[in-house]
Order: sequence, then structure tokens, then C-alpha cells
Amino acid sequence: MANWVKCTHKGDEQPVYVNVDAAMSMRWIESDNATIIVYAGGEIDVVRVCFESNRYAGRMSAAVQSNIARLVRRYFDSGTKRLDVTWYGGEPLLAFSVVERLSKRFLSFCEEFGREYSAEIVTNGTLMSHEKAQQLASWKVKRAQITLDGVPELHDARRVPKNRKPTFCTILDGIDAAAAHMHVSVRINVCRKVAARLEELLQILAARGLNRVVSVYVAPLQKVEDRKTLPSRGPQARVSSVAPQPDGEQLDALDGREAADLELRFNDLLWKYGFAVSNCLPEPRCTTCMADKEHSWLIEANGDVQKCYWTAGLRAEAAGRLTEDGIAPREPYRKWQDWTAFRNTGCLQCIMLPICLGRCPTIAQPSSTIGFVCWRAPLECRMDNWFLFNCHWPARKSESRPVAA
Ligand code: SF4
Repeated sequence: MANWVKCTHKGDEQPVYVNVDAAMSMRWIESDNATIIVYAGGEIDVVRVCFESNRYAGRMSAAVQSNIARLVRRYFDSGTKRLDVTWYGGEPLLAFSVVERLSKRFLSFCEEFGREYSAEIVTNGTLMSHEKAQQLASWKVKRAQITLDGVPELHDARRVPKNRKPTFCTILDGIDAAAAHMHVSVRINVCRKVAARLEELLQILAARGLNRVVSVYVAPLQKVEDRKTLPSRGPQARVSSVAPQPDGEQLDALDGREAADLELRFNDLLWKYGFAVSNCLPEPRCTTCMADKEHSWLIEANGDVQKCYWTAGLRAEAAGRLTEDGIAPREPYRKWQDWTAFRNTGCLQCIMLPICLGRCPTIAQPSSTIGFVCWRAPLECRMDNWFLFNCHWPARKSESRPVAA
């Protein structure tokens, strides 16, 4: 799921709607899960993007970085066995020194305490080079997620840099560079317009040989009415519209059934053009996302702590504040603690509950005005897909093909 936000820059007459795919996050797996999004990137100068960067220009301060390091040490002191980090936010490659400094501290802590560590990065790809990818790999960044917004024509109309030059080819170069050093997962943000030309896009990627080195998946864009209307909003919350496209027309979002059908069709296309195909059956789970994981945090560059990517940048939604002594909770934290899919009577009667868990704690909250979309149809489709793949297409199954991570 991708977020579209309204960005207005000085000198621009028209606001630009762009996808949010930046910032930096950390996640603890196992019993002490934590996700921390740190605003490493500050203002993005490559792409007019990002709901966060408009708010907290500049990189993460040394003080906040030190507090993160203290937090990690405290987790290790209390027995946390593993640290997983996702560098995300603003554009992490623009805050490379922050990524470097914190990576080295985390690695040193893990060595000192004998803990496991891994990291991944979410980047727009425009600044990725072989040198950077190599350095990231040396800091145990094992996976990069890079996003495309459709075929070149559609992508370049949506991903607009300050210099207004097209970014599609630059991003493909970035994908190439990253893929030489880590696994790359390409996310294609999909509306109806993009969906209609997915085969074209896969042909372009395959012609560059990327079908052999990256995995690709589609993320249907969803309409969000108005981010300032999230529950408990305060005076500092501000609008980040998600639905409209850059040219002002409304986002032609797929509905739940269409998204499910697309997934099935897309897998066929992946197969046709030689990409890895996911063959995973959805499994029951204990938590949905960082919102209901006790030790998962999203830390912004200014030290605010969130429990959801959607609220990043909304100060009134901050669940806490990172201090020298750890995370000091604030009032909005309570709603995350109280949330459970088992209070929703519709979900309680649903056979998919164990693998869905009500899908998204943010949009499932009664006070949320973000349109709730039940995930049953896509889940059923995914199961049908698995059944078709494993039972009806034995010839395909026996072919030797990579499986998407
Ligand atoms: S599939 Fe729909 S009804 Fe079932 S648990 Fe998920 S959100 Fe609730």
C-alpha cells in the first residue's frame, strides 16, 4: 500500500502529489519486536516527495541518534536477541552519514552483546550507486525496496524531481547497482492506469535482465480522505491528501476485488517474463504490524515516536518521545495498546481472521475516516492462486524457477 501526499514547494504554482517511500526504520524480531522510523533524510532534494520531509527539514540530530543508540543498548541489556533495522524516511541515501554512523554503532553493539543483526533500506533509488550499495552491504543491509510508479511515461509524470528531469531510467540504474550487492524488491504502485500497462513495464525490466536479479510485486494505491482527520488530531496536524494524482485528477484506485484479480494476473505476467514468483500461502500470525508489537517504534528525526507509518510526521499523533532514558509515552499511545481486531464483530465472524487480524489497526479504528477495505477478497484470491499453482499447474511447479522473497 502506498501513500500519496500533497507537496507544495516554494515557487510551484501547483501542488504535486507524490508517493511516500522514504525514512528509516528499525525493527526487532522475536519477542522484543520494535520498529523505529528515524527521519534520517530530512528534506529530499532529488524528488519532490514525502510527507515527513515537508515537516522536519534537515537530518536527524546527533542527540536523537545518541538516544537511539541508548535505546538499542537498553534493549540488548534487557535480553533482546536480535535487531533488524530498516533505513527509511526522507530519502535515506541523502542522509548517508546518519545511516553510516548508526549502522556502525548497531554492529558494534551486536558484536559486544553477541546479538544478531540485519538491515534493509527503502529508497527511491535515484541516488543508489555501486559504491553506496557496496557500503550498505558492508553494514549488513541485505535488502533494498525500490519503487516504480508504472511505465516510464506514467512514472516520470508522477515522480518529479526538482530539476524536472525524468527519473525512471535513473532508478533502473539504481536498481542495477543495488542488485549487485543485495536483494532488490521492486514495488510497483498501481492504480487502474498503471495496471493496464503492467506487461509493458515488465517487458522493460526483463529487457535489462532485471528479471533474473530482482523480485517484483504490485502495491495497489488506496484513497485516503485526509490525513489530518486521523483520530486524536491536534492543531499541528496538517493535510496530506493521498488520493489525487499530480495532474489534479482523482486517483483511479483499484477496489479490493480488482486488486485481488490483479494479483492473480500479475503472477502470470511475472511467470511469462521470467521473474521470480511468490508461492507462499498466507499464514496465521500474531501481530499485524508495528502498531501492535510492543517494542516496535517509528522514530522521527526530531525524536517523536510513532506507532504507524501513516501517522509519521503528524506530531499530534506521536505515541511518545524518545529521550535519553528511553521512550516516554504520550496519550495517543493508548489507542494502540487498546486496539484488537477481536473487538470488531464482523472480523470475529470471519474465517480469515487468523491470517488477517483485521488488516490495519489504523484504518480499522472506529474513529478513523480512512476508507476501510476488507482484505478477504485478496486473501481468498491469494489462496486460489496458490491452489492453482500447486495443484492445477504441476508442469509449471516442476519447472525450476526462483521464488520471490
Ligand atoms: S478479511 Fe475482512 S472481515 Fe476478515 S478479518 Fe480481515 S478485515 Fe476483518
